[in-house]
Amino acid sequence: MKKRVLITGAAGFLGSHLCDRFIKEGFHVIGMDNLITGDLKNIEHLFPLEQFEFFHHDVSKYVHVAGDLDYILHFASPASPIDYLKIPIQTLKVGSLGTHNLLGLAKNKKARLLIASTSEVYGDPLVHPQAEDYYGNVNTIGPRGVYDEAKRFQESITMAYHRFHGLETRIVRIFNTYGPRMRLNDGRVIPAFMGQALRGEDLTVFGDGSQTRSFCYVDDQVEGIFRLLMSDYPMPVNIGNPNEISISDFAQEIIKLTGTDQKVIYKDLPQDDPMKRKPDISLAKEILNWEPQVSREEGMRRTFEYFKTLSPEELDKREHKDFTQHNRR
Ligand code: UDP
Repeated sequence: MKKRVLITGAAGFLGSHLCDRFIKEGFHVIGMDNLITGDLKNIEHLFPLEQFEFFHHDVSKYVHVAGDLDYILHFASPASPIDYLKIPIQTLKVGSLGTHNLLGLAKNKKARLLIASTSEVYGDPLVHPQAEDYYGNVNTIGPRGVYDEAKRFQESITMAYHRFHGLETRIVRIFNTYGPRMRLNDGRVIPAFMGQALRGEDLTVFGDGSQTRSFCYVDDQVEGIFRLLMSDYPMPVNIGNPNEISISDFAQEIIKLTGTDQKVIYKDLPQDDPMKRKPDISLAKEILNWEPQVSREEGMRRTFEYFKTLSPEELDKREHKDFTQHNRR
């Protein structure tokens, strides 16, 4: 009998790569997504497979899955600052109510649940790099608060189910991750720069570009998540690439990689934009024997290859996705 895994957010960037990985590992994969920020294009290639099923469902509402489940991975959530502004209430709900539903499902099915947490639980961090024992510096009521606090609550309720009900749980704190299938118009820095370079527009750096990020290639991220799920460690673990770069230096790297002759223009820094971010991955190294393998140069090259395959119409969709057809509550 194949092991059965439910992956929420299956049509999203990370969710779809996780579906691929679990199919490759011989699992029966049940994907679930409400398709607000996800795109079926990301998992189209899986539909012909017998070991893949898909349900169009919002996990903030009661979740029913027939049959046994061995594992659940909760990856449904908007994940970019632009999305938080457009769908703040849904962002809060999927992290809180959605997580609660999946905890209940995991308890019923005696499944192990891994939740996707985030470096955003550290907010605009006052310690550097960020290790798992740092409690963070989050503005609860700022524009990012809807994501940050939902994710903090998610960790909290997950630990409560673990301690109170003895549920098997895992918590991954995901740092900035990139690769093929990132949504072009989600406002994040990598698709933004790639789209601008391919359309021949200037690259928009927010603030003075001195803020830093540390970018992890998606294959490395998926490997870390897989190892964590299979480990026996219930506390949060950072998975990310500690190779840190300022956003202005990163813009120069993109200009070089893409061969564009555009220049950099500066725009206002969004509110509560973290000034520094870099994971301390000592714990993941120690307990998962994991560390990133793909350099930024190689990962960005593969990512650019993907963005180059998009049609001119897709590249031209500059506007952010229109969420108005969805219920905002
Ligand atoms: N950023 C930028 N130009 C853009 C989009 C983003 O300079 O067109 C900056 C943004 O202000 C932030 C960094 O790039 O400092 C990473 O932004 P992203 O939204 O990708 O992720 P997050 O802030 O959640 O790490």
